Amino acid sequence: MSSHVVSKPISSRGRTWRVVINEDYCKGCGICIMVCPRKCLDFAKYFNSKGYYPATLSKPDDCIGCLLCEYNCPDFAIYLEWEQKKERAKQEA
Ligand code: SF4
Ligand code: SF4
Repeated sequence: MSSHVVSKPISSRGRTWRVVINEDYCKGCGICIMVCPRKCLDFAKYFNSKGYYPATLSKPDDCIGCLLCEYNCPDFAIYLEWEQKKERAKQEA
C-alpha cells in the first residue's frame, strides 16, 4: 500500500495545484530537494516503509509550481496535481 501526502492547495497566476508525495516510492535521494529553485522541499523527520527519510514540502507557500521536482524524481514519487485542469475536465465531461 502506498502512502500519499498531499499539500494544501497552492495558487499563483490563476493556477492552483497540490504537491503530492508518494512516500513509499521515495528513496530519500534528495534530488528534488536539490533542484527545487525555491528550496521548499526537505527531508521528513521520520522513516517511510523502506527505511528512508522521504521528501516533504516544508515551505508550501514558497512553491511556484515549476514542476522541476516532478521532472527530476527518478521514482515518480513526487508530482503536482492541477486543480484547474481537473475542474475543466469535469466541465467537459
Ligand atoms: S514545483 Fe518547483 S517550487 Fe514547487 S516544490 Fe517542486 S521544484 Fe519546488
Ligand atoms: S527525487 Fe523522488 S525519490 Fe528522491 S527524495 Fe525526491 S521524491 Fe524522493
